[in-house]
Formats: sequence, C-alpha cells, structure tokens
Amino acid sequence: MGRFQIQWKMYKENVSKIKPVDNEWEIKFKCEKCDEISNTFAVVDGDEEMEIPGSRGVSNLVIKCKSCKSNGNVNIEKNSIQAYDDENENFKPLVNMECRGLIPEEWNISGMFEGEGSSENKIEEIELEDREWSGYDEENDAAILISDVDYQIKKIK
Ligand SMILES: [Zn+2]
Repeated sequence: MGRFQIQWKMYKENVSKIKPVDNEWEIKFKCEKCDEISNTFAVVDGDEEMEIPGSRGVSNLVIKCKSCKSNGNVNIEKNSIQAYDDENENFKPLVNMECRGLIPEEWNISGMFEGEGSSENKIEEIELEDREWSGYDEENDAAILISDVDYQIKKIK
C-alpha cells in the first residue's frame, strides 16, 4: 500500500486560501502489477463507499485493471485537504490518498474551487481546468487573477 500526495501551486492576485468545494478527484492510475496506465480518468469520491471484492472492507473507489484484471482500491485520507495560501508559488500539499495496487499518475484539475478575498470574504465558483481564472471581488473592488496552476504527485510516508 502506498500513500500519495497531490501538491499544487499557482500564481494569484487578490485571492487566498484556494480550496476545492467537493471531495472528488479525477485521477489516472497505473496498475502496480502490470504497469498499465488507464486511458481514462477515474473519479475518486471521498464521500463514496464501495465494497472491496474478497474483503469486508470498503474504500472510496475500487478499480479492476483492464489488462491483468487485478483489483486496486483508493481512499482519500479524511481531513487531508488543504487550502492553498502560498504567496511564492511553491508546491504545497492539497490532498493525500492511500492506494492499494494502484499508483496515481495524473490529476485532471476539474470541479469548483473557492477562495478568500482580502477581507476574508468568500470568492466562489472558481474553475481551474484551464489552469487560470480571472474574476472580480465586488466587496473589495479588486480584480482577481489565478494563473500557472500546476501540480505534482509525490509518494509520502
Ligand atoms: Zn494490471
């Protein structure tokens, strides 16, 4: 079993504490047994429970490898999601996942994000799939810019 962490970074103006609204992650996995990488993104929903075949356990997602037919499963670690508030575009932890039989290879940046404006007001409906976003903070009369969104996936202890 391996623990993995998605780390992310971005450039941002007039917005801080960016975090995902939902606990759903679109991930491409590699099979640990045969090294086959799936050609589609699987959705790991941290609030979903699926039975693990041949066991009494449950996990957020069970996947059967199309090549070697072995089962793998994934769990999003509870309370591991962290908001991004770095001012210097350093990679910071976003979410941790525990994988059995699978290795996360790619994250498709999708879904809604939210952040905070300069008076700790909520900035909603931020979309990052184009790896940039611009909006307007009415409360503080400020233009918001997010750009150069990037991520890496690291194995952690
Ligand atoms: Zn396989």
